[in-house]
Formats: sequence, C-alpha cells, structure tokens
Amino acid sequence: MRAPVVFVSHGSPMLALASEHPYALALARFAAGLAARPRAVLAVSAHWQTRDGVMATVQDRPATVHDFGGFPQALFDVQYPAPGDPALAAKALDLAAGAGFATEEESVRGLDHGAWSVLRHLFPGAEIPVVQLSLPVLPPADLVRLGAALRPLRDEGVLLLASGGLVHNFRTMDWEAEFAPADPWAVEAEAWIMDRVRNRRFDELCAYRETWPEGRKVAPTTEHFDPLFVALGASREGEAPAEIYRGFQFRNMSLGSFAYA
Ligand code: ZN
Repeated sequence: MRAPVVFVSHGSPMLALASEHPYALALARFAAGLAARPRAVLAVSAHWQTRDGVMATVQDRPATVHDFGGFPQALFDVQYPAPGDPALAAKALDLAAGAGFATEEESVRGLDHGAWSVLRHLFPGAEIPVVQLSLPVLPPADLVRLGAALRPLRDEGVLLLASGGLVHNFRTMDWEAEFAPADPWAVEAEAWIMDRVRNRRFDELCAYRETWPEGRKVAPTTEHFDPLFVALGASREGEAPAEIYRGFQFRNMSLGSFAYA
C-alpha cells in the first residue's frame, strides 16, 4: 500500500514535550488513522542542510541529536531510539543520484529535532525504522525534483516526512505570547501558500521569493520553507493534501501541517 507524504511545520522544539498540545494530538491522530503502518520513514528537515549534494543516515541506530541550545534539560533528555535502515538509505541515495544529485552517506550524524520532535508524536513507540536525508541548499524547483525522485519509495511503504515551517520568521515572532491569537498577515500568508498547494500551482510557490511580496517575510531564510518543495515533489498528480493541523504559536509561527495520504 502506498505510504503518505507528510509536511509538518514543527514549531518550537518544546512541542516535542507537549504531547497534549492540539498539534501533537493531531499528529498522533493522523498516524493512528493510517490505513497501513509505514514500513519505514524517510525524513527531511530544515535542520540538516548540505551544500554538496544529498546525504542520508546509514546507521543501524541513528542517534538522537539535540541540535539546539537554551532549552530545559528535559528536552535534552528526549531520545528517539528508532532503528535505522541502511538499505533504505542506499536506495534513497540511488534514486537521488539517478536524478542527477550528488550523494554521500552519513555515518555519524543522527536524527535532528526537526525529525524526532515530530516523529515522537506520530510514532511514539519509535519502532518504525527512520532514515534522515539532508536538505540540499538548492533552488525550489530542484527540491521538487528531489521529491519526485523519491516518490517511488512511497509504493514500498516508506512514509516521506518533510519537516519545516510554512511561516517561520524569528524577527516577527513574539516569544512572550505562545498562545496569543495569530497575526492576520500570517494567517493570510499561510492561506496563500495552501491555496497554491491545493491547486498544484507549484511554479508560483517556487517563485515565492521573487514574485510574492510576503515571500521573504514568511521565510527570511529558506531552510524552513524548503522541505515543502520536497513534499510537493513527492506528491502525485490528482492527490489532494489533507489538513492535519492549522494553527500558530508566538503570533506568527505556523504549525500548519498536511499530508498526501
Ligand atoms: Zn525548526
């Protein structure tokens, strides 16, 4: 059975500990409702960018990487001890290489919080093997192409998880107001994005920095927006995105998440 593509706006790392947050509950409900459990997860996150091509974790037991500072010890204590899947890593790299991307194995670095903070809610048992793929620093159209190259893995029961953020701007966030009502501009910007996702107007999304006045406001830097393009590429013509969660933290940090399931 074909496994889904999931795009998650992962928000603050602290959400990893907030299993009763509506966002966490929505992720858990989504995973519990899948018609079939995925055989493995291939994760791409904002927090592992590479400049020389695409890398994949090839370990039998990828470590849980706490790639942040200034958070409570409880967050550093979180482990996500999912097994790796070296064969899947090799296959993902083969597919990427076949599409013209430079590839490399990664045998040291493990899963970053963009992956495990989300996986913890999706699959809390950590029993499903996880491979993390790096996010190459490339133009959006190339990331769509990377997603398309990985698409066949879905037919082998591999869930593709792209973890970033639809609206993610540290300069506009209000850290004192985690639960405040969302800023209208952020709600409208997210709606603009999702409208183009739904209507498969990917070219307009790919040109977001050049042609959309809000583009550089939703993504002052590209890393949280880029996983979206990998997810779009891995979707199929005719597949409609199903909303998993809509909401914001800190007035304008999106938690908007959806799946092609
Ligand atoms: Zn992040």
